[in-house]
Amino acid sequence: METIGFNKPYMSGKELYYIARAHFNARLAGDGPFTAACHESLEGFVGCKRALLTHSCTAALEMSALLLDIQPGDEVIMPSYTFVSTANAFALRGGVPVFVDIREDVLNLDESLIEAAITPRTRAIVPVHYAGVGCEMDTILDIAARHGLKVVEDAAQAFMSRYKGRPLGGIGDLGALSFHETKNVISGEGGALLVNDASLIARAEIIREKGTDRTRFFRGEADKYTWQEVGSSFLPGELTAAFLLAQLEDAREITRRRIEAWNHYHELLQPLEAGGLLRRPVVPPECEHNGHMYYVLLPAEVDRQHVLAELLGEGIHAVFHYVPLHDSPAGRRHGRVHGTLKQTEDLAARLIRLPLWVEISRPQQARICATLRRVLEKS
Ligand SMILES: *Cc1c(COP(=O)(O)O)cnc(C)c1O
Repeated sequence: METIGFNKPYMSGKELYYIARAHFNARLAGDGPFTAACHESLEGFVGCKRALLTHSCTAALEMSALLLDIQPGDEVIMPSYTFVSTANAFALRGGVPVFVDIREDVLNLDESLIEAAITPRTRAIVPVHYAGVGCEMDTILDIAARHGLKVVEDAAQAFMSRYKGRPLGGIGDLGALSFHETKNVISGEGGALLVNDASLIARAEIIREKGTDRTRFFRGEADKYTWQEVGSSFLPGELTAAFLLAQLEDAREITRRRIEAWNHYHELLQPLEAGGLLRRPVVPPECEHNGHMYYVLLPAEVDRQHVLAELLGEGIHAVFHYVPLHDSPAGRRHGRVHGTLKQTEDLAARLIRLPLWVEISRPQQARICATLRRVLEKS
């Protein structure tokens, strides 16, 4: 029996060629020609004012916290149902993640609960576009504008997705992308900070280059570079950028094929939903997603661990995530909960993610869905 892994990184075929060219150029530190080409590509896709490669989405979120000058005690509104980096980046500056519940349909931050969570200490809102499906950005931007708050989109999963026609990551003041091996477009570890508020560009470049104006110096805009403010080294080397460029050149094709696989799951699982065995993901009409993830929600009475173990026994590697942050040791120490997190706790306990990658085949998907059906009918 063939084992179907949860993820299989896609290779465009040009990665090693570009890496060989970087090697031949003998130009390996960050911000060389491959990084510049990636920046141009990302700015074209997202329409942001400036894209800056980082060594991860985590790093891009940490840069955001520095750029917004988050101080100890400053509050940042975000979902608890997210990856740890969303909160950790702000907690590193002494900021307080304020966890708000998610929507039952899309599992994104519930925009109707944000306003009540705002206090005089609130500085920013961090919508996380779960599964590459956009948060209700118009409402979030409106709340932020009325309260003088910044918006940082955690678009780690949302490269090439759109909300009302606008690319995700290009809507808030800042956006953060991930090119981790488990995402759609990859470089092993990697990410980018997307700057949409032009007034933040100069400081973003400084913070990314160890707090110096080296980026301006390299452009010939300064005759020396010096320490300007607190920063760190957030940029990847050229080998990573070379790999990423090969992927970016295939971004449309990668997205198209993932959506195709996503749609096939959606079709195959329709009868299971109709039979009350599970709930399929919801994509609102104003959102175009990128096929990043296919998840299903199990009925409350079904034992998820049992389902995952049964699938694994049949050679199918499905997974669950996230353990909500408010309930984690560090989340309890550094964060604050606003209201109840009823949906977060309920949905997080019932979700499983099915294998999804560019080259997954229709027979593999059929086998996964048939096995899932058998397991759920017995559960
Ligand atoms: C993957 C992910 C991250 C972290 O990305 P890295 O590039 O691994 O740092 C952050 N937030 C969300 C929502 C993610 O899915």
